Amino acid sequence: MRDREQGADSGPTAAVRVLVVPRAAKLVVAFAGSPVGLLAHWFKGRSRPCPGETECVTSVHRGATTWYGYAPVYYASADARAWVPAVLEVTESLEETLRHRNLLGEVWTLFREPGRKRTLRVAGELNANQGCAPRPLRSFDVRPTVQRLYHTSQIQFGAKNPTPDTLHLPVLRADDAAAPADEPGLPDQQKSARETWFRMRNGGERNGSQAKAEKGGAK
Ligand SMILES: [Zn+2]
Repeated sequence: MRDREQGADSGPTAAVRVLVVPRAAKLVVAFAGSPVGLLAHWFKGRSRPCPGETECVTSVHRGATTWYGYAPVYYASADARAWVPAVLEVTESLEETLRHRNLLGEVWTLFREPGRKRTLRVAGELNANQGCAPRPLRSFDVRPTVQRLYHTSQIQFGAKNPTPDTLHLPVLRADDAAAPADEPGLPDQQKSARETWFRMRNGGERNGSQAKAEKGGAK
């Protein structure tokens, strides 16, 4: 048996399938590697992986693409009381969360954010307890399983999620002296800069006493 050849412990085996984060349940997975990406076109009613520019139908290739990643994981099966191997489908939004990490061996809880849309955003949280994952986690090639999923071997793997990193910048400290001054004589609706500044600083509306203190200070 193939598993034996790969040196797996003798015991029950599982057919490796593609795992999609469900709408209404949480999924706990231990990563055995990073996601491998592909770009898919929506064509004739379904998602089809791009075989690469030279192989792709030109009109289809010019159209929109969606990135999907596929990562080797072991998911926690309460029924089987076991970690079951599977290929996790990683969405663009989940990849943003997992990016720049060495995922091997990390345990995550994955879920879909609540909402009414047909497709809900996938999110994930690193588990506080990292000691529960089976070790060592043996990685495996996800590509044959993904090829089975799409019924084609013509898939150009290795695509990068086109969503750039979120830009993180330091928040600049402000003090009272820096509050933008109200311009006297301007109509009320244009005098909002100072109000906005206080709202931002206080994390809410200005309360009465602060407003009064401001008036007193301005005299
Ligand atoms: Zn294409």
